Amino acid sequence: MKFHILTIFPEFFRGPLEHGIVRRAQEAKLAEITVHDLRAFTRDRHRTVDDRPFGGGEGMVFKPEPIFECVESLGIAAREVRGIGRDSVVLLSAQGKLFTQPIAGELAGLERLVLICGRYEGVDERVSDFLADRELSIGEYVLSGGELGAAVIVDAVTRLLPGALGNEASAQQESFTDGAAVTGNGPNSTCASGGLLDYPHYTRPADYRGMKVPEALISGNHEEIRRWRRRVALRKTMRNRPDLLERVALSAEDKEFVEGLSAKSE
Ligand code: SAM
Repeated sequence: MKFHILTIFPEFFRGPLEHGIVRRAQEAKLAEITVHDLRAFTRDRHRTVDDRPFGGGEGMVFKPEPIFECVESLGIAAREVRGIGRDSVVLLSAQGKLFTQPIAGELAGLERLVLICGRYEGVDERVSDFLADRELSIGEYVLSGGELGAAVIVDAVTRLLPGALGNEASAQQESFTDGAAVTGNGPNSTCASGGLLDYPHYTRPADYRGMKVPEALISGNHEEIRRWRRRVALRKTMRNRPDLLERVALSAEDKEFVEGLSAKSE
């Protein structure tokens, strides 16, 4: 998959994308990341990418020309002309739809993903209206620029590319991942999240300064481990993200456990 990042700070990406899974995915040619300097698509002596807002008001706004021209240089036409295909153009924006794991999964199926990083007061709205397929926000807060958001999206999407993780099952068992079928007592896998938050993880030593690993995990009993993981995932989800519980398929055993928790907290 090819990522194209459009920014006025290309140096920003020297680091965040050069470690761990993202670096290995590039080395294995699963992902190719190209960072484009928007100033290279300006024509004036000062390499101007921004201008004052029409109608007055604070700050500066990214001009549309460098962004349209940079995207066009990749052979990607304006939205109406290119239609729906294997390329997608995303504008990073605090006003965008929230970037989630299902969206990461959707983007991982593309051939090319273009990520436009704004700065200042934002980007001329014509980029959103006529060039980008969608605006994505990485959270309900305002960042100084889209670069951190672009790095987040590249990371989350890359680890979903087939072969990127080494062990494909890993992606299935993570938080928010609704990958495993829920039947009978819970998800088929002993450790699938089934759309909940991930369960807690422990490693050696089993006793660190008197802080002990839960008994169930060292019992060697797979059914006991499955049940323990499912219950703590349910408890953590209920505590930190109760909204997720409304979206996941719960088994009869899950429901009973959740009802018990609710009764206790009342
Ligand atoms: N005036 C804008 C507003 O209030 O929504 C904020 C502009 S922000 C200072 C500059 C740029 O940072 C945006 O154009 C966008 O690319 C990026 N940005 C800020 N917050 C973001 C977020 N939560 N997710 C993704 N990108 C964000």
